[in-house]
Amino acid sequence: MNALAQELAELIRQEGPIGVSRYMALCLGHPRHGYYMKQDPFGADGDFTTAPEISQIFGELIGLWAASAWQAMGAPSSIRLIELGPGRGTLMQDMLRAARVLPGFRDALSIHLVETSPVLRERQKETLAACGVEPRWYDRIDQALEGPAIVVANEFLDALPLDQFVHTPEGWRERLVGLGDQGRLGFGLAGEPDCSLSLIAPAGSVLEQPAAASEAVATVARHVAIEGGAGLFIDYGPARSGFGDTLQALKRHEFVDVLAEPGDADLTVHVDFARMAQAGLAAGAAAHGVVTQRDFLLALGLQQRFEALSRRATPEQAEMLASGVERLIETGPTAMGELFKVLAVADPKLPLLPGFDLHRLPEQG
Ligand code: SAH
Repeated sequence: MNALAQELAELIRQEGPIGVSRYMALCLGHPRHGYYMKQDPFGADGDFTTAPEISQIFGELIGLWAASAWQAMGAPSSIRLIELGPGRGTLMQDMLRAARVLPGFRDALSIHLVETSPVLRERQKETLAACGVEPRWYDRIDQALEGPAIVVANEFLDALPLDQFVHTPEGWRERLVGLGDQGRLGFGLAGEPDCSLSLIAPAGSVLEQPAAASEAVATVARHVAIEGGAGLFIDYGPARSGFGDTLQALKRHEFVDVLAEPGDADLTVHVDFARMAQAGLAAGAAAHGVVTQRDFLLALGLQQRFEALSRRATPEQAEMLASGVERLIETGPTAMGELFKVLAVADPKLPLLPGFDLHRLPEQG
């Protein structure tokens, strides 16, 4: 048992079994042993790789998307560009490079990062200093929001804790982490059903309640609906709500037992995009999407950007670019192009934003 497992066991002995959201929050955010608190998890040597680390084109296209959103807002002279969970700062760096094509946009921007990890804040600082940018950091989303804002979040919502409930003949009982054989962490169910849940489902179905992710989307949506702007959320998960346990742990690019190495493996969930869109709408914003990452990136001009870069590249670089692009848009139930979805919550006064106008019917004459 690692140090965090021992600490969790002690907590459970004292207070009883804990909910999945508390388990997740401690695994990821414990001040000393939390996964994001002590390491940089990205890249080939790390535990997982994200789209901005796969290809610079990803961030560049998001940069162009942000520039279009700014234009649609009437090109305000001052606007916050806010990123939630910026990782190594790569996405922001690539966005800002692309933003230079619209000089007025780059001049209007100030950069704000919401990040809890001290290790990653340091990485972000280095990455952005290299391109002459000095961002400001915040622990919480509401602290970063002020005035017109464009918010981007890639693989942020999947790291936010959720609770799980299991359907039993008595009703929905919360799934808890307690102590099993030989004092090891194990899953169990709350003794009493939760009376606030009344959905009908087959026995054994798992219902996830992503309160923190819904609240994150709602916070951004409430703000942009009043102050102007838009928030872009990209993550893995279904476009439609369903039942199922999506909690997963990843270490060195392999799935591992979610209870085996708390704080030493990345712990995430799939994002229920239908619920995220509902949270945005209920907070007063418009919802654009949900579309797949493949459709979104192709609509933003992935192919054209790839061809332009390839013309200037060496054969090896061109091959790297091609494999990166292929990975971003690959189809298949577990491939990035299809598993990853994109949702924007926006000021209802804005037109449909680029990347989402896939199914627009031809103009009627
Ligand atoms: N967007 C980056 C990183 C994704 S990993 C990329 O695409 O490469 C998740 C990021 O969210 C990390 O930067 C992590 O430190 C941050 N994070 C996780 N939980 C958070 C929370 N509750 N508040 C703020 N940031 C958080």
